[in-house]
Amino acid sequence: MKVLISTDIEGVAGVYHHEQTRAGNPEYERARLLMAQEANAAIAGAFDAGATEVLVNDSHGGFRNMPPDVLDARARVVQGKPRYLSMVAGVEEEGVEAVCMVGYHSRSQGRGILAHTINSFAFASIRLGEHELGEAGLYGALAGEYGVPVVMGSGDDVFIDENRALFPHATFVETKKATGFNSGVSLSPEASRRAIRAGVAAALAARGNASPLVFEGPQVVTLRTQSPMMADLFCQWPMFERVDGVTLRFTADTVEAAVRMLNCCSAMSSMLR
Ligand SMILES: [Zn+2]
Repeated sequence: MKVLISTDIEGVAGVYHHEQTRAGNPEYERARLLMAQEANAAIAGAFDAGATEVLVNDSHGGFRNMPPDVLDARARVVQGKPRYLSMVAGVEEEGVEAVCMVGYHSRSQGRGILAHTINSFAFASIRLGEHELGEAGLYGALAGEYGVPVVMGSGDDVFIDENRALFPHATFVETKKATGFNSGVSLSPEASRRAIRAGVAAALAARGNASPLVFEGPQVVTLRTQSPMMADLFCQWPMFERVDGVTLRFTADTVEAAVRMLNCCSAMSSMLR
């Protein structure tokens, strides 16, 4: 069994603040190790459940947070950007059977800790068809396009509430309860790692129940930006339709095409910083 573990930082136990998620300060240097240790717990859980191969994808910010020498040597590590499949890069490899999402967070404008979708400066909300999605939903649908189900997710209680209906057979591990954007009540890192290891093992043992999240056909993407100026910028791209000051629409043939366009927008947005 080959498993892909996609890791973010905002849902990791003990992480509440942007200083912990942005390079260039001592808080981040500690948090990236907390992230790596939760990844290691997930890797261990996968091998406990009989995995023969594990890929761990570093999916936060610049996609090179976890020091490779800190990670469990049994796993191969996917790092660096840009890359087409972003948070689920690796899912395209032959034989991947399941995706686990560790350290994930809830979507933009919600009440979760450090809630955002892809880029907090650029996007206020992202909808594929009728579904308003956070990163777990977008990348779960992208993995689904490759025929691979999401079987496990960890993060705060808001992240779990948002995603349970999308992944009804997944095992969720609550690392902390949100009481605000920058506040909450967390498990200790040690307790969180134990829960993640057990959660991944249980999820993989039950993976036969899970099915890929599939959104059929061309995707109509409705995007709300954080400012009209951002919408002006994205609409330089002729395939965008302007709906109102901060709402845009475009159509993409596949979820992968939609996600790649969103990531292009995210990269473009740095022009306005
Ligand atoms: Zn992140």
